[in-house]
Amino acid sequence: MSKRQLAMVMDLNKCIGCQTCTVACKTQWTNRNGREYMYWNNVETQPGAGYPRNWMEAGGGFDENGNLQDGIIPDMVLDYGVPWDYNHDELFGNADTDILQPDSDPVWGPNWDEDVGAGDWPNSYYFYLPRICNHCSNPGCLAACPRDAIFKREQDGIVLVDLDRCQGYRYCIAGCPYKKIYFNPKLSKSEKCIFCFPRIERGLPPACAHQCVGRIRFVGFLDDEESQVYKLVHKYKVALPLRPDFGTQPNVYYVPPVLAPPQIDESGAPIEGSERIPMEFLEKLFGPGVHEAAKTLKAEMEKRKRGEESELMDILIAYNHKDMFRLDEN
Ligand code: SF4
Ligand code: SF4
Repeated sequence: MSKRQLAMVMDLNKCIGCQTCTVACKTQWTNRNGREYMYWNNVETQPGAGYPRNWMEAGGGFDENGNLQDGIIPDMVLDYGVPWDYNHDELFGNADTDILQPDSDPVWGPNWDEDVGAGDWPNSYYFYLPRICNHCSNPGCLAACPRDAIFKREQDGIVLVDLDRCQGYRYCIAGCPYKKIYFNPKLSKSEKCIFCFPRIERGLPPACAHQCVGRIRFVGFLDDEESQVYKLVHKYKVALPLRPDFGTQPNVYYVPPVLAPPQIDESGAPIEGSERIPMEFLEKLFGPGVHEAAKTLKAEMEKRKRGEESELMDILIAYNHKDMFRLDEN
């Protein structure tokens, strides 16, 4: 049990799927030395199979009695997808092709099903779900490791792998229901998002949050009542953990995408009171609290439209980038 817990909130109503966060993370941490296939930060389309493919059905986590569940290790080719290059030499050289295509035959990869979503036109729908390790309070990866190689830092609850202890058994990968810990074949060790702890220690937010174009990411300590993270999670209760039923008590929270335009009828007119993204789907992802969170978000939005004050809307609009992060005051 750590003394304090750092957390991130992501407002899914504002994510534009630009992948700037993904690139910020990848260029800093995972573009070399056996990490090429890893995405410590990925942004996937939901509904969708995600990355790795079908991670939500890959087991791990805990049942309602607190027992660790069996899980699978995703397949490198079928589920993660082998990174590929393109036939630039062939295309721009002397060859007789004018088609740009991968230089191998991939069957899956990050964003393979990007923007596919679900539903029928004109009421089809999708949204972007950025994912990092949740730095869980009850991590499945930690519980599954027979070497005690995974630990939570006392000062901020960041979950790390002790690479000196890790023997590359990969039980952690099966145990994590979010499949956010990866095997490095070059080092024969498990590796994962480190919440950019070297930046945290200098009072800076993780690179993914700092670079986020949509200003969707808030970072702070869950017990810091002045932080916007505290207000979104505890005061207004509009930020919810992903798949709380997995039992790992995640510390990344999401403001659910409930502010999408309504469905439209055959004449193109909006259908009053309809939900474009079905609430059953959002409840599956974010638990039963999603209904109350949606009510609060819509009520506060209406207040703001009437010209009234709304601290919640002011936070979510994110006027001042630096107010989204509260690290060095602690
Ligand atoms: Fe471990 Fe997975 Fe939780 Fe991260 S998300 S702390 S890897 S169980
Ligand atoms: Fe979404 Fe921000 Fe990442 Fe862009 S940088 S994909 S807006 S989380």
